[in-house]
Amino acid sequence: MNTSFAFLGDILSTANRNTLIELAYLLAAGLFIFSIHWMGDPKTARRGVFAGVAAMSLAVLFTWARPEVTGYLWIIVPIALAVGPGVWLSNVPLTAVPQRTALSHAFGGLAAGLVGTAKFLYWYLHTPADLTSFRVGAIVLEVLLGYLTFTGSIIAAAKLQEVKWIPQRPWVYPGQNIVNFISFGVAVVLGVLLVVNPTGPYALWMFAGVVFLAFNFGWMLVMPIGGADMPTVIAILNAYAGLAAVAMGFVLDNKLLITAGALDGSSGLILSIIMCKAMNRSFSNVLFGAFGQVQQKAVGGEQKTYKSETPEDAAAIMGQSSLVVIVPGYGMAVAQAQHKVRELYDQLKKRGVDVKFAIHPVAGRMPGHMNVLLAEAEIPYTDLIEMDEINPDMPQCDVCLVLGANDVVNPCARYDKNSPIYGMPIIDADRAKTVYGVKRSKNPGFAGIDNELYFLDKTRMLFGDAKAVVGELVKNLATGSGMH
Ligand code: NDP
Repeated sequence: MNTSFAFLGDILSTANRNTLIELAYLLAAGLFIFSIHWMGDPKTARRGVFAGVAAMSLAVLFTWARPEVTGYLWIIVPIALAVGPGVWLSNVPLTAVPQRTALSHAFGGLAAGLVGTAKFLYWYLHTPADLTSFRVGAIVLEVLLGYLTFTGSIIAAAKLQEVKWIPQRPWVYPGQNIVNFISFGVAVVLGVLLVVNPTGPYALWMFAGVVFLAFNFGWMLVMPIGGADMPTVIAILNAYAGLAAVAMGFVLDNKLLITAGALDGSSGLILSIIMCKAMNRSFSNVLFGAFGQVQQKAVGGEQKTYKSETPEDAAAIMGQSSLVVIVPGYGMAVAQAQHKVRELYDQLKKRGVDVKFAIHPVAGRMPGHMNVLLAEAEIPYTDLIEMDEINPDMPQCDVCLVLGANDVVNPCARYDKNSPIYGMPIIDADRAKTVYGVKRSKNPGFAGIDNELYFLDKTRMLFGDAKAVVGELVKNLATGSGMH
């Protein structure tokens, strides 16, 4: 049990084996890059997933084959233990993918932190000469980012899962900003002192201090951030996990880990910048939390009323329209209404109605959520129109069917400075000639605020589960009931 991959060792000399490993790493790095490239387009996304899996398998197998890797048991047992949770995590519903992703980042961050801790302790206690300033610098970064990602991601996952013991709203207290910056500053100072004197008398205590502060900084960073900023937070944590992997690559002297970590870190960073733009949040505002920005939205005394419509009448109006724009949102995902939506699309098309889907970048609960669902129902990509492209056409739209969407069509984002979604670009559903809103109740959306759109004179509500309501619309269009 105390030998590395015996069969490879027998076949190859150490020199040949190292060359083979380097080649495998090169191939894996190429596959990782192509994987991300292919995943950028729905048509090649599946290929991208396979390339990623192949790259990771190569990376694990050939790292295992490295001559210095010994002791199968310590590798096989954790892998065997991880299979169960891994399979469970891969089977969560699509609506829970953001929190699942956050959990993956949490595990990645924890692994990086633990590896860094183990390396520091090993070198400090057994071979202090190996504990160079460069290595300690990499370890401090790895541990800081790794543990921070761990606790931050756990809180992000809990917030998205709406667990009872974590408040969904920003959790703030006076001076929070200062406390966070001071604790981060202390961690950096301890890290610098460690780099200057890695094996000094207080090095162990200073390292323990860095670990403690890193654990704390993660949850302190995410707790003050409200639900509407969560997608960006997940992308930022993705970037942190990637950077922790880069630092780990330097600690372990593994070039593939540095490459893969850099890819992960930069793609997470790019995604978070895109998300920031989509939600009109400044990057630093999200990064350092919505400090002190708890909005207590005063609900006006006046009682606003909804106007309801029957699916029969709605179908009649839609059937006679020139342009129908469907705005899908989280409710369509919950109801799994995408296949019924496809039927509605077919029925309207059959009547010569132009049907477009308005896709908001943060509709649903993860980037690309709506694209994935509509692609599953084989709705042509050419009819999925990005927000910026569809908005100028909204005044020409006869019917805008808002299907389980709420925040992404809330006009208060344009003018209400007290709203948590103020400044977030929205789909201009309110500029359509007629609006039909499909939702189950009078409850607000993710940001917890009422939607002015649903109280406009031009808006009619079709209350009910999205799948059932769209099913009714399809039935009425198919039978022609209500048509004039
Ligand atoms: P919202 O969460 O704002 O609104 C969804 C609406 O769907 C609710 O009003 C709900 O009303 C309705 N609904 C829920 N279930 C059903 C159902 N079965 N049938 C019909 N309606 C249903 O969704 P949006 O897509 O408009 O906005 C996304 C929000 O999520 C944004 O605030 C965004 O910031 C946030 N977010 C986005 C992420 C992303 O990356 N896309 C990730 C995390 C958060 P009712 O209960 O009355 O039915």
